[in-house]
Amino acid sequence: MKGLARTGKGQIGWVEKPRPSAGPRDAIVRPLAFAPCTSEIHMIWGEMGDFMPPDRIMGHEAVGVVDEVGSEVCDFSTGDRVIVPAITPTFGRVPAQRGFAQHCNGMCSGMPFCTAKDGVFAEYFHVNDADANLAHLPAGISLEQAVMIGDMMTTGFYGAELADVALGSTVAVFGIGPVGLMGVAGAHLLGAAQILAVGSRPNAVKVAREFGATEIIDYHNGDTVQQIMDLTDGEGVDSAVTAGGDVSIIGQAVQVLKPGGTLGNVNAMEHAENIPIPLAAWGSGLGDKTIRGGLCPGGRARMERMAALVKHGRLDPSLMLTHRFTNFADIEEALILMHEKPRDLIKPAVILE
Ligand code: NDP
Ligand code: ZN
Repeated sequence: MKGLARTGKGQIGWVEKPRPSAGPRDAIVRPLAFAPCTSEIHMIWGEMGDFMPPDRIMGHEAVGVVDEVGSEVCDFSTGDRVIVPAITPTFGRVPAQRGFAQHCNGMCSGMPFCTAKDGVFAEYFHVNDADANLAHLPAGISLEQAVMIGDMMTTGFYGAELADVALGSTVAVFGIGPVGLMGVAGAHLLGAAQILAVGSRPNAVKVAREFGATEIIDYHNGDTVQQIMDLTDGEGVDSAVTAGGDVSIIGQAVQVLKPGGTLGNVNAMEHAENIPIPLAAWGSGLGDKTIRGGLCPGGRARMERMAALVKHGRLDPSLMLTHRFTNFADIEEALILMHEKPRDLIKPAVILE
């Protein structure tokens, strides 16, 4: 079978590999839709893939059709249409039993796609523990919507959850790429009153407003912290979600948090040894400001809940789809677009039917 691989640092190319086979609890899935993620950009062109063997097939966002199941799989059969989470943990492991399945076999190990095995940009891909990780694609959800569930929705929503967004609260979301936009939508669904969204790409600004942003802050137009303080009468925010920018964003978020406020980071940061936190803004360390950062939850139950939000019309994540492709090989162009990030891009995806 063919797959689009990271062939070396900063390099991608098509490779030919044997079709994977299913162990007793696994499934082999054929993609119906897939999309590139900024995390792949970090892995291919940045520092996060430095550990990878050459010719690793990329991709961890897909919807597909089950092509084969192992002998112990109970709830899925050949031909079933499924949502595939980016994070497919081994739920039997002790870290999973403690509530952090994303880190089941060590920190951030819950995403074997691309890291421990080939990813989804292939004619077929392997899903471990199919009963625990796949979710049936409900009728009434389009492939354009479904392909946003497995990573973008669960990640952005996790940002809002980590940030403890409460009814009637004020929230700042730093970054309105697809992840931050889902952070905006998550904060809105969790009942935030005021949502200040930081970003500048015109399409993303428009969608941020549709997802519930009450104010847009362009970080090119002066100091972001000052703009947020001005828009909150000098009080700052109860919650901050960080989903873009470099390590300096964390310090900015700490500066705008009220005492008692919480930061939920879902941005994958690189190119730095440490994260600078301004001491005064953290009350010399006594400011009662909580900093949290996490890898999105995966697994079947999480996917079913995300899908329920779409099915019942609480949000339409396909509004983020700005570049739609229809051929298998177009994933290469989609991945390059995600790398180059033209101003009109939010999210590209390949929809195969
Ligand atoms: P994008 O690159 O599409 O979006 C980044 C956003 O950050 C844009 O809105 C951009 O603004 C904004 N931004 C850039 N610089 C600044 C700045 N200095 N101040 C404020 N905002 C800024 O990224 P994605 O949405 O695709 O992904 C976001 C991050 O989430 C990535 O690091 C990705 O790796 C990570 N991720 C994490 C996961 C997890 O589980 N934790 C899972 C999936 C992704 P502009 O509008 O001007 O472009
Ligand atoms: Zn991702």
